[in-house]
Amino acid sequence: MKLEPFFLPNMKQIVLLMIGLAMTGAAFAQDAAPSPERIQSTVNYLASDKLKGRGTETKGGEQAAAYVEKQFKAIGLQPAVGGQFFQQFVFARGKHYNLHSKNVIGYIDNGASRTVIIGAHYDHLGHGELFNGRYPNEIHNGADDNASGVAGLLELARHYQGNGVKEPFNFMFIAFWGEELGLHGSKYYTRYPLDSLNKVQFMLNMDMIGRYNPERGVGFGGYGTAKEWPEIFKGVQDGGIKFFTDGSGKGGSDHHSFYVAGVPVLFLHTGGHDDYHKPTDDAPKVDAIAEAGILKIAIQLIDNAMKFERLTYVTQD
Ligand SMILES: [Zn+2]
Repeated sequence: MKLEPFFLPNMKQIVLLMIGLAMTGAAFAQDAAPSPERIQSTVNYLASDKLKGRGTETKGGEQAAAYVEKQFKAIGLQPAVGGQFFQQFVFARGKHYNLHSKNVIGYIDNGASRTVIIGAHYDHLGHGELFNGRYPNEIHNGADDNASGVAGLLELARHYQGNGVKEPFNFMFIAFWGEELGLHGSKYYTRYPLDSLNKVQFMLNMDMIGRYNPERGVGFGGYGTAKEWPEIFKGVQDGGIKFFTDGSGKGGSDHHSFYVAGVPVLFLHTGGHDDYHKPTDDAPKVDAIAEAGILKIAIQLIDNAMKFERLTYVTQD
């Protein structure tokens, strides 16, 4: 009997197999850990004078949105809004009507029934025109507020897209616009969510995570918004980063919109400083090494929170 060598791959198949393995290897080798160098380069770009402070309805703000979209694509996120990454909306503020704005939204579909939402606002004050006008002719670069949070958003997206693990939850990454003018991006999203908010495990918000101060430590707000957070925080390795928890689900950033809509939240914040909302909130002052450490804590918390089928929302007055 003649043995058919059908089980022996020919040379072409071997080569294809090797290319396939090499490509898989490359995908897994993509560094999925938060990187201080990448964080700094994201902050440097978003907080450069070129983007003129990323004000709402300004060219610099549009450029920031385009940058986030480009990064989402490069990381491999899926467009979440009917084949595109932008969720467009208009809002009014005082005598300014029809301010055009957009959230940038990317998705990792793990075929799960529930989703983790991770967010950070990408707008800042521009020249401060719509604000108190303390420095009306100067660019407010907003490196800590909130280029640092967007850098964190991109690092977490890269981690969960590139870690080679099929997580038990889907992930939605949202860069909000209009935050500085009154949480408009998150208000709009929670009013017109792309999927039911009942399916959201929790929302993690990063706003100003670039000025780690070892005396104060980084705050994790929202600790009191789900019954399970204390359990989730157990055994987390801080890697030398000092952190503390704070119970409140409400506050002056985008997690507030989700919390009042019934979603448990977590809010990362390294605290106020002398450059807050001033033209001097610049990129060289961001501590990217500490920020990477903070994100490593966040990853452990996200991973622990995914061990629960559902978090139990806690109402606060
Ligand atoms: Zn902010």
